Amino acid sequence: MSGPAQRKTTVGVDVGGVMVGGGGPIVVQSMTNTDTADIDATVRQVAALARAGSEIVRITVDRDEAAAAVPHIRDRLMVRGVNVPLVGDFHYIGHKLLSDHPACAEALAKYRINPGNVGFKDKRDKQFSQMIEIANRYDKPVRIGVNWGSLDQELLTVLMDENAGRTEPWSAAHVQREAIIRSAILSAERAEELGMGRDKIILSTKVSDVQQLISVYQELAVRCDYALHLGLTEAGMGSKGIVASSAALGILLQQGIGDTIRISLTPEPDGDRTLEVKVAQELLQTMGFRQFVPVVAACPGCGRTTSTTFQTLAKDIQDHLSTSMPEWREKYPGVEAMSVAVMGCIVNGPGESKHADIGISLPGTGETPSAPVFIEGQKVTTLKGADVADQFKRMVADYIENRFGAGRAKPAAE
Ligand code: SF4
Repeated sequence: MSGPAQRKTTVGVDVGGVMVGGGGPIVVQSMTNTDTADIDATVRQVAALARAGSEIVRITVDRDEAAAAVPHIRDRLMVRGVNVPLVGDFHYIGHKLLSDHPACAEALAKYRINPGNVGFKDKRDKQFSQMIEIANRYDKPVRIGVNWGSLDQELLTVLMDENAGRTEPWSAAHVQREAIIRSAILSAERAEELGMGRDKIILSTKVSDVQQLISVYQELAVRCDYALHLGLTEAGMGSKGIVASSAALGILLQQGIGDTIRISLTPEPDGDRTLEVKVAQELLQTMGFRQFVPVVAACPGCGRTTSTTFQTLAKDIQDHLSTSMPEWREKYPGVEAMSVAVMGCIVNGPGESKHADIGISLPGTGETPSAPVFIEGQKVTTLKGADVADQFKRMVADYIENRFGAGRAKPAAE
């Protein structure tokens, strides 16, 4: 059998109009790294993340100034036409911030609670309860987000003591996994005891080790039907973070586990925060779960094509499609399902180009300097001259307008 396992059934949670779980599409989310008290910077970054395709955006709410800024951020985004749901990320004093800033509690679409960071001993229960009661009052969902780096140490100690009494003790990694899972489920059950519906609870259990993450979520998915938020914490920078997150999340998604994902990348200094959205979308699209941007199939190139024309063209086309998508989503409904092929020589070029909606087979080294173009499997023309790339880009634009534009010649293919 090919394809992913059937999605695990979870209880759907409405996060400010975006359904997470309950069989809905796997939702892409992201998090800002601005100081939330800096309203301008936060509005700019939330808008950029939303424009890149983030369907939910989380912001840090760590102090009074940040909590006071939240309703202004919400309002400013609305004025700009950005109505992406905002999630408040709370640690240590979330109960106090939400109590002291009712406009913040109202403006947020969801609260993230870390059960390891809501006080200690008796205070923990009190502060956790307070946050749940506020969420109930404002009819907001919560994410109970356990993180290995801030795991409830009292619970871990209890489990280690339990383990010491076993005739065949579990490994330390096994005890850690159990502590993470139990912290999430016990907290969710406590929230339910406090009157919160299951349709208001999302769980996450993040660790930084890929194999541990997979094991934790596999077990969590067996033990509960809460909607699940997937993410590898501290994934790292650059290709390391992308590969680690994609490996971990890809395996879980293939097994039908996960309702929303966030790729936690450490950006380069002054790097583009929207990269984490792009990677999340590419992961879901590559695996066939969702379509966000038209696919560009390009051959890797080899000794048969020594010019960089096809690499440049493939990149140009990919960049053009990606940057145009925010506008095209409205203007050309269905365009995200389109495929484009840019191939380097005659060996696989014509064949691959025929499989795409529109494709070009550029000449390899020593081949006649001409480039056949195929539309929906049929050769329509052969481009020649030094401006083949520009000619092809114009053909792609015309194809999109004809197929997906308002006066389209025919409806988009199923
Ligand atoms: S299509 Fe041609 S240039 Fe591209 S990888 Fe294959 S053989 Fe090499």
